[in-house]
Amino acid sequence: MATPPSEVLAFDGGRVRAANVIEAERVEGLLNDLRPRLIEMLPDSTFEDLEVWVQERPSLYRYASEATADAEGLWSPTHRRIMLSRHADHVERTLAHELTHAVLGESWAMLPGSLEEGLADHVSASLVKDGATRLRAGRLSSACLATGGLEIDVDVSRVLPSDTFADEIPSSRRGWSARVKLKGDTESTDPLDVFRLSAGLSSTKLDTGAKRGYYGLAFLVVSRIAALENGYEGLQQLCLDASAKGLDHVPVKDILAAANLGETPAEWRRAAAQAMGPEEIVELVRMYPDFLVDALTTYLESLRPSGPVEGWLDQIDVRVSLVEGGASIPLHRLPFVREAVLTELTRGAGSLVAQR
Ligand SMILES: [Zn+2]
Repeated sequence: MATPPSEVLAFDGGRVRAANVIEAERVEGLLNDLRPRLIEMLPDSTFEDLEVWVQERPSLYRYASEATADAEGLWSPTHRRIMLSRHADHVERTLAHELTHAVLGESWAMLPGSLEEGLADHVSASLVKDGATRLRAGRLSSACLATGGLEIDVDVSRVLPSDTFADEIPSSRRGWSARVKLKGDTESTDPLDVFRLSAGLSSTKLDTGAKRGYYGLAFLVVSRIAALENGYEGLQQLCLDASAKGLDHVPVKDILAAANLGETPAEWRRAAAQAMGPEEIVELVRMYPDFLVDALTTYLESLRPSGPVEGWLDQIDVRVSLVEGGASIPLHRLPFVREAVLTELTRGAGSLVAQR
């Protein structure tokens, strides 16, 4: 078994173990903030007798197993222990996710397959606003990738000086559009597998891409039910109804009805794309910037507008839109893309810059 971290701090409802006082106090602070909000937000939740261990790699064992080696956080119901990586991308968000697993009362065990993961992600996005858009964009785009891909339109048009007549520029040089398709590892998953497979259990053998897909699909389902059916109360009601009927799990048809989702990959993909707004597109491009940076660089290099390279981007209008979702943003929402394109263009014109 893994050696317990040496520093121990008690908090209301359990204990934190970490490498030193500073680390333990930091996590204790996060717990004190998250605890009351979590309990109020989730029906049938209790917060007691918990341990939170901060580790180099979250694991129950001294040598992390392959399935858990890349996890940022783990929850062991047997040990009532949350294991948190001190290198987690976002410690508070990971803690909120694992805490959700830890506080769920018995009724929630009626959620089938991977849905509890969707709930934990959704709760963590509600509790921790910082980074929530990135989480949403990540989960929803994974849902699209798992069900056939995510199509993005890039439309470029030239900004013409006010004294130019449009017909002075050949139409071939006025604008340009491209449709990019981001694709996952597989052509398409049966989205209903999200109800059959428990992607969150370390005993479920799935590669990272497939696992992300199920987390994404579960997040989509929970988001839709929470939006349509009175928040988490509606989702819980499904559990209570199934329990009253003596069932093992909430029937899939009841979940689909509550989420207003069909059974085909195309319906799930559209629903995921439609759940993405302008903020999520910004995060999406941040995750996959290359397609846009490359396309704009190549276009500007062939167009070679007048004036210094630094001004080239100001001579075009760019819009990035989701084909199925419909949301769309202009380039000025993506300063990191502007910067990367400029770097590429200056590199291409390296000799010119050196001569200045
Ligand atoms: Zn989880």
